[in-house]
Amino acid sequence: MKSKSDRKQVIARRGADASQANQRSFLKTAESLAEIGRGFYARGWVLGTSGNFSAMVSREPLRLAITSTGLDKGGLKAAQFLEIDDQAKVIRGDGRPSAEALLHVAIVRVVEARAVLHTHSVWSTVLSGTRAGHGGIALQGYEMLKGLAGVQTHKHCEWLPILENSQDVVELADRVSITLREKPDTHGFLLQEHGLYTWGESLAEAKRHVEILEFLMEVLVRSGAAQTA
Ligand SMILES: [Zn+2]
Repeated sequence: MKSKSDRKQVIARRGADASQANQRSFLKTAESLAEIGRGFYARGWVLGTSGNFSAMVSREPLRLAITSTGLDKGGLKAAQFLEIDDQAKVIRGDGRPSAEALLHVAIVRVVEARAVLHTHSVWSTVLSGTRAGHGGIALQGYEMLKGLAGVQTHKHCEWLPILENSQDVVELADRVSITLREKPDTHGFLLQEHGLYTWGESLAEAKRHVEILEFLMEVLVRSGAAQTA
């Protein structure tokens, strides 16, 4: 039978192992996010330090790897990521999270997402302005819709809600939570004249959703279909 001090050592060792596994998971996640961010920059979707990216390191307790604020995404590195908790408080890394970190936390709390990606493309900026009066954009009839999780046919109608932008991120996070609770099967939303938020059950799925939604928004603007979407 193990003594009390043996048991304490076992518990301490398990704690250290868990912390090392968490660190490895954080680094791996940060490397993948950095690579995706550099790719998005190359596509012109996150210019001028805009956009932010996060992925879950653990759900219980909630820990996210997320970009720190004000970074040029063209040279994004894993070392520039922070680990935050469910209050967007920094647990690991140097720097400050973007104020929008609270939106990432709100999204992963409401939908079953493990990664949240936010872009500021020309297309989402144009559409979220011109279509704001309609409250959202309807995407229907496009083969590319089948790249969204769970969508089987081009006949699917995807409604991308447009939320009014705000610098009060706490208030904005509340509106995001309410919108997603009402329609938990939505794949993303737009902030007016600001950009796109989308997510996925994995980082690969979230990246695919950015590519699909950015593609479709570009199609709408270039084809002039945005007038009737
Ligand atoms: Zn933004």
